[in-house]
Amino acid sequence: MSTVTVVGGGPAGLIAAEVLARAGATVTVYDRMPSVPRKFLLAGHGGLNLTHTEDRAPFLRRYGPSAEVLAPMLDAFGPADLRAWCEGLGEPTFVGTSGRVFPQSFRATPLVRAWLARLGELGVRIERRRRWTGWAEDGGLRFAGDDGAASTITSDAVVFALGGASWPRLGADGSWTAPFAERGVVVAPLLPANVGLRVAWSEAFAERFAGTPLKNVGLTVLGADGPTARGDAMLTRAGIEGGPVYAIGAAIQDALARGRCVVEVDLRPDLSVDQLADRLRRRRPKDSVSNWLRRSVGLDPAAIALLREAGALPSEPEPMAALIASVPVAVDATMPIERAISTAGGVSWAEVDEALMLRRLPGTFVAGEMLDWQAPTGGYLLQASFSTGVVAAQGVLAWLDRAR
Ligand SMILES: Cc1cc2nc3c(=O)[nH]c(=O)nc-3n(C[C@H](O)[C@H](O)[C@H](O)COP(=O)(O)OP(=O)(O)OC[C@H]3O[C@@H](n4cnc5c(N)ncnc54)[C@H](O)[C@@H]3O)c2cc1C
Repeated sequence: MSTVTVVGGGPAGLIAAEVLARAGATVTVYDRMPSVPRKFLLAGHGGLNLTHTEDRAPFLRRYGPSAEVLAPMLDAFGPADLRAWCEGLGEPTFVGTSGRVFPQSFRATPLVRAWLARLGELGVRIERRRRWTGWAEDGGLRFAGDDGAASTITSDAVVFALGGASWPRLGADGSWTAPFAERGVVVAPLLPANVGLRVAWSEAFAERFAGTPLKNVGLTVLGADGPTARGDAMLTRAGIEGGPVYAIGAAIQDALARGRCVVEVDLRPDLSVDQLADRLRRRRPKDSVSNWLRRSVGLDPAAIALLREAGALPSEPEPMAALIASVPVAVDATMPIERAISTAGGVSWAEVDEALMLRRLPGTFVAGEMLDWQAPTGGYLLQASFSTGVVAAQGVLAWLDRAR
């Protein structure tokens, strides 16, 4: 019977272990944490958005430049498969607002409990508190225990699913990049993705509006070709965060890398500038500026304060309409990777074949967030982690077959 080592017990590693064990392999999962899968469990605190129901084409577009390479993997184990898998573990799913898919319990704990029990029944061993530290000279995997005890493990094949570098206290700390680079594997720098932005608000604005949403706004990066993201953004003491901010994260990173990033906020994305100007012309003589903006175009205090953050307010309808449609917000930086929901960057696609095997290390496969893709929140992260985990496991099985 073939032996397979899975390093990393997040969703990508555990689903790979499940597929391998079902096919009869003897599987051991190693993870540095005392329990697994910690990030998946934390994702459950937000309801566990497992995947999304939108059509294939828009779904794939969420993966930006990685869409093409991920497409066959997302087809091999897609949203319907993930939902069926979840239901098979006693956790039926439902489709929530805007097509997002959640387990009915809205939590990860029952799903994880059932999953770990199933893995146990399939004979998968999970070795916790074992940190992978690199390769030994003979190609074996070196591990360090919590007590400092070192060991070297060899097996017929290996799947790495070590995650990115966000929320490192949950396990994935990106420390795998050094041994991978030593082996000559090209790894794109790990960068924060789905992360809040730092903005130098005035003290008064930060004090009053931190924790207040900007409701139904449109966000675009100035100078980028698009996209515009719509939704509620949350003002924080140090900046701004939330779904629409994350959705334009890649364009924000590009602009920051070029040296300047301005996000334009459309406070009334359902109205054109002309429609806004029309409404603003209906100002009553006694209206204060705030009343004028509230009555004519329905801006709330946070939105009005954001306009004031941009500088002196125009008094004429036309320039005011233009400003409402694109309030410039200068972004200083993203929040650090420790505070990011996910990680951009990782093992370069050129380093793996279509079965996710490292070209330089035959028999060694890579899955999950440690690969170089990124996507917004909405279930796309877990979906791609599961899909790549399944494809890597199938790749292992095919490779073992060929090796026999
Ligand atoms: C707060 C939060 C909420 C989220 N909510 C959602 C959501 O609702 N929907 C969604 O799609 N995505 C969500 N995500 C993202 C999603 O959880 C991740 O994309 C996903 O967990 C990545 O899976 P993975 O298996 O690749 O990596 P991980 O889940 O990070 O697992 C990697 C594993 O490798 C282990 N490891 C790392 N280094 C070593 C080492 N050297 N030796 C041994 N073990 C090691 C870690 O301990 C960890 O268990 C959320 C993330 C966060 C932080």
